[in-house]
Amino acid sequence: MPRLLPRMFDKPTLSLAALALPPIKPKTGTRSTCRLPINLRNFLAAQLGCQPEASDDIILSFAASADRATLNKLARAIRRYSTARAHEAWTECNLAVESFVQARQRGRLVVLCLRCARVDFADSASSEHRRNGCVPITLVPAGAARADDAGVEEVPEKIQRTVEEFRALRMAFGLPHFDLDCYVRNEQLTLMWRPLP
Ligand SMILES: [Zn+2]
Repeated sequence: MPRLLPRMFDKPTLSLAALALPPIKPKTGTRSTCRLPINLRNFLAAQLGCQPEASDDIILSFAASADRATLNKLARAIRRYSTARAHEAWTECNLAVESFVQARQRGRLVVLCLRCARVDFADSASSEHRRNGCVPITLVPAGAARADDAGVEEVPEKIQRTVEEFRALRMAFGLPHFDLDCYVRNEQLTLMWRPLP
């Protein structure tokens, strides 16, 4: 998170444009590629009084209609949030978005393990993380895609949805989800989570 946030905190007031992540490859005719990291989105939803499951678009439109006093308050809250986050320990994996796109096009399994702090691109990936304490998440299912199915715009979105489903499922079972989050910056997909105890 720290690398993502400074852009919006250098400014005295919150800029809405700064909240939106840059599109991976801007293209006319494709829908908005604005994707906030899940933790930041949840934080903003709480600050703005939106539903916890509010989408990026809802949050941005809430912020767009807020008055200056509310925006200033929000900017201060985000600054505190960012400072707090910068002092916390996070585990991170950074990989090129392209490697996930290729795996998907080739129908190749991609598994992230929170315990091993590793992303594996291999058909054996799921059997490698059956050790006691491993927390594997299938980011790209094996053999699931046709070659034309998902491109650079879609794959990060699918992965973020997978992360959201993982969090929801873990919560439903009363298990920690370690604030697992993901976002795209400069064609790199960053996965981050709190270190496992
Ligand atoms: Zn593992």
